[in-house]
Amino acid sequence: MLKKESILIEGVEIQISYKKIKNLNLKVGIDGQVNLSVPKFIPRVTIDKFINSKLDWIKDNLDKFSESIKFSNKKLQNGEKHFVLGQEKTLKVIDKKMKHPNIFLENETNLVMEINQNVSQKTKERHLNQWYENLLIKETENYFKKWEQVLGVSKSKLIIKKMKGKWGYCDIRTKNICLNLELTKRNLEFIEYVVLHELCHLIVPNHGSDFKKLLNQHLPNWKNIKTEID
Ligand SMILES: [Zn+2]
Repeated sequence: MLKKESILIEGVEIQISYKKIKNLNLKVGIDGQVNLSVPKFIPRVTIDKFINSKLDWIKDNLDKFSESIKFSNKKLQNGEKHFVLGQEKTLKVIDKKMKHPNIFLENETNLVMEINQNVSQKTKERHLNQWYENLLIKETENYFKKWEQVLGVSKSKLIIKKMKGKWGYCDIRTKNICLNLELTKRNLEFIEYVVLHELCHLIVPNHGSDFKKLLNQHLPNWKNIKTEID
């Protein structure tokens, strides 16, 4: 087995894999995972030097990810494309004088927002985010039940929020699991993978070989799911 380790530099977690290769190879996945493959017998100081020279580039890439999850580039207008559970929907905004907006999916193709058009952009965003959040809670409920039972663990609280560079996060101390609101835009297969991934952290806190063993055991195709999305 070749060595793997994870190091933290300026708040950025970098996963290092020692491989039979000649050059260092750095990748930033859209899920915010930073992977660095390095030659087997490379001195640690060379790794540190390399990372430091690339740190701005890494941070830029992590920022790009967080940029893509902002609503600011969405105007919430008719005809706009929005992703819901991995499927592209067309937004239909219908002006209705009502106190509480009504948001729903229509005919597999439309995401309908019945809302008073006079409300601010911020209010529209807030309502749509709330709708996404409720959907994510609903869709992950069974996945949590299923995998908590299989793994023999249980989380405390489920927190959903927008996060930078991460799909999920598990606080091992409180057993709270946090999911990125943006996850609601991904397909169910990926959502289930993230749920399992975070629950596995209740058994193995890091991404080392024991962690991968767990994933291999319970979701043998997890690597394909992950790379399809990256
Ligand atoms: Zn993890």
